[in-house]
Amino acid sequence: MNADCIFCRIVAGTMPATRVYEDADTLAFMDIGPIVKGHTLVIPREHFDPLTQTPAPVLAKLMAVVQKIAQAQMTGLRADGVNVLQANGTAAGQVVPHLHFHVIPRFRADGHHWNWAAKKYECPEEMQQVAAALRAVL
Ligand code: AMP
Ligand code: ZN
Repeated sequence: MNADCIFCRIVAGTMPATRVYEDADTLAFMDIGPIVKGHTLVIPREHFDPLTQTPAPVLAKLMAVVQKIAQAQMTGLRADGVNVLQANGTAAGQVVPHLHFHVIPRFRADGHHWNWAAKKYECPEEMQQVAAALRAVL
């Protein structure tokens, strides 16, 4: 429990949230600023952050609930699709520093666009160099 963390306060029940699912390790609640109505956040009860410092067994349990919420959005909200999103660090757009997965129901006519601007490597060698930098630490 981190007293300064709003999601820890939601877990503790000292900050209100509209819960949709909870178990011993995990909590899912409605995002107050939905990208699309039904947008849900899935968090571990314990304070972890970021993704890279979260134990793999915690992530495994969390991902099972992400799947459960995605399924509920498909069946309960009749979503046509689901986006799963997770941010680490302010450079990645993270605002709340308690690990959370966004599970966002998508509808064919929901009007949301990610503005996914695909770019290009300067040359094939540049991509090979970037891949080599990753392989070197894996
Ligand atoms: P991120 O940018 O990935 O850190 O996302 C943080 C998310 O938390 C945003 O989508 C906010 O709308 C949401 N949020 C912040 N405060 C609350 C709260 N008290 N209850 C529910 N969602 C919240
Ligand atoms: Zn926290």
